[in-house]
Amino acid sequence: MKTAILGGGLTGVTLARLLHGKGEDVTVLEQEETIGGLCRSRTDAGFTFDIGGSHVIFSRDADVLSFIQDVLGDNGEQRKRNAKILYKGRYIKYPFENGLYQLPKEDLFFCINEFIKNLIAVEKGEVAPPENFAEWITYTFGKGIAECYLIPYNEKVWKYPAALMSHHWVDGRIPRPPVEDIIRSAVGIETEGYVHQAVFTYPVRGGIEAMVRAIAEPVMPFIRTGFAVSSVREEGSGFVISDGTAEVAADRLISTIPLQNLLPCLEDVPPEVEAACAALRYNSLCSVFIGIRGEVPDFSWVYIPETEIGIFNRISFPSNYSAEVAPPDHASILVEITYNEGDDVSRMSDTDIVGHTVRSLEVAGILRSAADVVHTGVERQRFAYVVYDLDYLKNIEIVRDFCRERRIALVGRFAQFEYLNMDGCIRSAMDFAGMI
Ligand SMILES: Cc1cc2nc3c(=O)[nH]c(=O)nc-3n(C[C@H](O)[C@H](O)[C@H](O)COP(=O)(O)OP(=O)(O)OC[C@H]3O[C@@H](n4cnc5c(N)ncnc54)[C@H](O)[C@@H]3O)c2cc1C
Repeated sequence: MKTAILGGGLTGVTLARLLHGKGEDVTVLEQEETIGGLCRSRTDAGFTFDIGGSHVIFSRDADVLSFIQDVLGDNGEQRKRNAKILYKGRYIKYPFENGLYQLPKEDLFFCINEFIKNLIAVEKGEVAPPENFAEWITYTFGKGIAECYLIPYNEKVWKYPAALMSHHWVDGRIPRPPVEDIIRSAVGIETEGYVHQAVFTYPVRGGIEAMVRAIAEPVMPFIRTGFAVSSVREEGSGFVISDGTAEVAADRLISTIPLQNLLPCLEDVPPEVEAACAALRYNSLCSVFIGIRGEVPDFSWVYIPETEIGIFNRISFPSNYSAEVAPPDHASILVEITYNEGDDVSRMSDTDIVGHTVRSLEVAGILRSAADVVHTGVERQRFAYVVYDLDYLKNIEIVRDFCRERRIALVGRFAQFEYLNMDGCIRSAMDFAGMI
């Protein structure tokens, strides 16, 4: 039985490794010249940056974490998270609800008062259950935390109104804080939130791509890069996959590529399935790389909810994850800007984006002086985040049912079209391989 895996990102190479380990005959078809997808890294002038934004390894899933740590071996290093939110010129401890004591007094009062008022109202059954993401945020955290941070930040990253997003995906992903922790945080007693991420792992050398390469190592001979799948046709009980010049035959087909790339490759897709796929929302990402002479603040990353600071939503400091990703006496800054195709950011040139970023970082005091910048770069990814709009559940079911009928298995972030982190992708690959 020969299995073709479309896409050589993290999910594709993990599937290949697991299936190969079970004695299966696999071929991975990847459009780019290198594997890794969103987990690729690039080294220029001694600086290594993750091209799909800053990536760190963490998980609640013990099996997945030990799988990653085993493959990374001594190329994995653990760091303690020191993440912040830049709010009215102050660095607030992340998550926001654990750093309330650092807020200006009026905002602290607003957040804690609304949290408690809301909690009582919810307990008394006076608040209707939430029907969208914006309502869920207020229902869970109260109007203060919602308006000061969660709504502006979320709208900045999703590039979509929170009131038009579904909330089916948030439970477990955005934990509901215990009331005692909120009160502790308001009076200044240290608490930790999102504890599964409080310590993270990062490759010492090679950026996050080093993890994908370590996973792919035993199956590299079975990966065909530079193969952009353009058609998939059924032949007998199998499939013939083509990139327009070469063909690969397989008995089983697993797709890890975005649904928006897969469906145009298939024959006779009904119009209602095409429409459902076209309606699935996602956003895109621009990563800005800045190498500087000297030091950066001692933060892992900083969330930027305020639009006045800049168009970016997160700033991270890769040289704080590993000293080997920047030359000696230098440091690095990776800035993430999400956007929608056709919007203002999508029309900005790389030069303008770098100019805006450097100026904004200087004004915010994160960069001491623009004269310290010795290296810049920009990368764009069309598929960055799945955006769960209110029609998501209806549309995804139509597309999944169709792929099931066509015997195409969907595994991975944009194939399942789910907000999966790296651990979620590896878990999906493990579960899929376990079913075979
Ligand atoms: C800004 C940002 C930060 C993130 N940070 C973290 C983090 O800190 N920790 C974490 O765990 N996760 C993080 N993630 C999530 C992580 O990037 C994803 O979970 C993971 O990379 C998805 O892997 P994948 O293989 O499913 O998809 P992809 O990486 O999208 O891989 C799909 C592959 O398919 C290929 N492909 C597409 N079309 C075709 C075609 N027609 N023919 C052949 N090949 C094709 C692509 O080139 C690509 O290589 C982050 C994501 C983003 C956007």
